[in-house]
Amino acid sequence: MLLAIILLALAIEKRHPLEQQPAGASRFNLAYMVIYAASGGLIDLDASGSMLAPAFIVYAFCMDFLEYAFHRVQHHVPALWAMHSFHHSDAAMNASTTTRHYWAEAGIKALSIYLLAGILFKTNLVILGMYGILGLYHVFPHMNVRVGFGRYWMLFNSPQYHRVHHSVQAEHFNRNFAGLFPVFDRLFGTHHIPRAEEYPPTGLDTGKAPGTLLDALTWPVRSKARPVP
Ligand SMILES: [Zn+2]
Ligand SMILES: [Zn+2]
Repeated sequence: MLLAIILLALAIEKRHPLEQQPAGASRFNLAYMVIYAASGGLIDLDASGSMLAPAFIVYAFCMDFLEYAFHRVQHHVPALWAMHSFHHSDAAMNASTTTRHYWAEAGIKALSIYLLAGILFKTNLVILGMYGILGLYHVFPHMNVRVGFGRYWMLFNSPQYHRVHHSVQAEHFNRNFAGLFPVFDRLFGTHHIPRAEEYPPTGLDTGKAPGTLLDALTWPVRSKARPVP
């Protein structure tokens, strides 16, 4: 909102300037604004009173979209796939696979999508706490259970829907990236709607998997994993 007002004011100044200023005089300030905003947030999500629920829904959708985008990059960039393939190397996917992510990925996310979220949104601790609780949902789609949402697949991620993402079968590669909301897969055409009894085997098509904890810690260099085409 503030940014929109400043841009409008700059447009007015340009038509009726008090003093002549060099072209691009405000460019430095606008560039610095991005850094300044990182300490405050460009979009003020009002979460007081009755606005709490809508603010939370907006925040959760925006964050899940950032997660979706990051996940697609993880499958596309070889250096990131070398790490993310650790998550995919589990041939026996179950609830404990939820936290099976390569250790360096947390830092990369903190410096990319979470930094961006910090720049974009000014939120309060209630929203962040609620989003943290919603994040516990990720355990469910990794569960080794025969549960899918059938024709309502687009509402929420499910064990069947996410199992397709972990599938060893080529027809399922680079499908069903969504974390919470499969609607993003639908929007960007990366969805595979599971058939009624479709529960494919999981793991990497190379058959590679870490044998020891040391293998896990050094996975990107040991796996020699390649992105799936
Ligand atoms: Zn993945
Ligand atoms: Zn997963």
